[in-house]
Amino acid sequence: MKRICVFCGSNAGHDARYRAEAEALGRLLASRGIELVYGGGNVGLMGALADACLAADGTVIGVIPEALLGKEVAGRHVDHRALTRLEVVDSMHTRKARMAELADGFIALPGGFGTFEEFCEILTWGQLGFHVKPMGLLNVAGFYDPLLALFNHAVREGFLRPQNRAMALTDTDSGRLLDAMAAYRPEPVSKWLKEERQL
Ligand code: AMP
Repeated sequence: MKRICVFCGSNAGHDARYRAEAEALGRLLASRGIELVYGGGNVGLMGALADACLAADGTVIGVIPEALLGKEVAGRHVDHRALTRLEVVDSMHTRKARMAELADGFIALPGGFGTFEEFCEILTWGQLGFHVKPMGLLNVAGFYDPLLALFNHAVREGFLRPQNRAMALTDTDSGRLLDAMAAYRPEPVSKWLKEERQL
């Protein structure tokens, strides 16, 4: 994997471990020579991740929609001068498509709606076979336990195939997560469970 796209909160969360893990992931990507692609902002975990990666001599590519550029977010001014490269795009949709195109894999750190939406969309594209790139949840301090429980519930209730559920790789350790992502080979299955019932 040459480039990883990381989705994460534009807030830092209450628990100090969220920021610490975002910084550790930034340094880890730099040390493994993997370029970071992310949403381009300097707020919350996004800023912590990008700053740590840059400080460790990593390469950081931001992709940001024009509407968010220069906007005051959470009382701070978005400042991209330190990024290796910043791509300004016309919309949130173009941004997600561009980040998906640039990256060889995707990681979600803790975050809110934006993070959930980005990670679930990339999972959706994966289960439809639009890409075969690895996707991992970094489960810092059990943050993603409720979401993983929901994924398992969807399998039990017949909305999600176990093979597609398994596309969301999970670990509490970023090094192990990257190793699992590097070894990942998707199992091609149809998204729809209905066909099995008709047999
Ligand atoms: P959230 O988890 O709701 O805080 O949203 C975080 C995700 O949404 C990030 O991965 C970004 O792609 C996007 N995002 C939210 N706020 C910003 C911002 N101020 N600057 C850049 N991207 C943002």
